[in-house]
Amino acid sequence: QAKANGGSGMRVYTPDLGTQNAERFEMEKGLHKALEREQFRLVFQPQIALGTGAVYGAEALVRWESEDRVIPPCEFIPLAEDTGLVVPIGLWVLRQACAEARRWADAGMAELVVSVNLSAQQLETNDFPATVRKVLEETGVAPNRLCLEITEYSAVQNLDRCIKLLKELTDIGVIIAIDDFGTGQSPLVLLKRFPVQTIKIDPSFVRDMSEDSGGEAIVRAVIAMSHSLGLTVTAEGVETEEQLEILHRMECDRIQGYYTGRPMASDAFVAYYRGVASGVSSWES
Ligand code: C2E
Ligand code: MG
Ligand code: MG
Ligand code: MG
Repeated sequence: QAKANGGSGMRVYTPDLGTQNAERFEMEKGLHKALEREQFRLVFQPQIALGTGAVYGAEALVRWESEDRVIPPCEFIPLAEDTGLVVPIGLWVLRQACAEARRWADAGMAELVVSVNLSAQQLETNDFPATVRKVLEETGVAPNRLCLEITEYSAVQNLDRCIKLLKELTDIGVIIAIDDFGTGQSPLVLLKRFPVQTIKIDPSFVRDMSEDSGGEAIVRAVIAMSHSLGLTVTAEGVETEEQLEILHRMECDRIQGYYTGRPMASDAFVAYYRGVASGVSSWES
């Protein structure tokens, strides 16, 4: 047990740090193994077009199926980023997501867009746009059926280089979205310089919307600004009908959240899509 050092405020003995390092090391070993054994799995969360109620597509979210439990990305993506493993993991995710999109298209759902999260490191790898082009070719997915999500934070690290890369990606024809919009440091004016098509409003703003009118004003302003810049808007973390109604009135383009669908296996997503398209089932019920 740790002993406090008589009020000096200095910690002489830090078992927690040692344990943490050991845990991180174990987890890093586990991540290497997981890559070799393909212990990763994707789940898909529906995105709904508010104007029509149609299913626009789905965001691919990675899960790690370790021997004893399913580990969510918040528990291993930070370590994967620290160790560089996020690059091969991210490539696996991109391939797998595109392979699923191809299966959806083959099953008659060619209009669906699959969204994939990118970490800044992936964007920085040697000729990432060429990698994307190759994966699209290999899987036979139309470029405009793939959306790449980057966070504001990763976007501003090296601005000019980032803009150049995003330009190359949009030239291929893929859609670029800014994820977690509003939580980063970047000034709004950057949006004008960024070759992006969509912004995703962070769940924290959606949550605040129902709590006070200030929260609602911010979301309204972000939607108006995005539209005047020619961008579309997806609101994330929509959990209630009330939030959906407010966003609909504000002419938000799309929503994603537990209210319209939790992340699910690809097969379940296909069934979900068919249910909504045939009008037999609806996310409203
Ligand atoms: P994100 O890209 O912002 O993804 C949305 C997260 O919000 C997902 O968590 C999703 O399950 C959760 N969510 C969706 N709707 C709701 C809702 O109504 N309420 C609440 N409370 N949460 C909701 P998840 O799957 O745990 O992913 C967390 C983060 O991990 C993602 O945030 C993303 O930044 C990262 N991530 C996931 N997959 C990948 C990946 O393949 N590569 C990289 N680099 N990052 C990933
Ligand atoms: Mg995302
Ligand atoms: Mg997000
Ligand atoms: Mg995020």
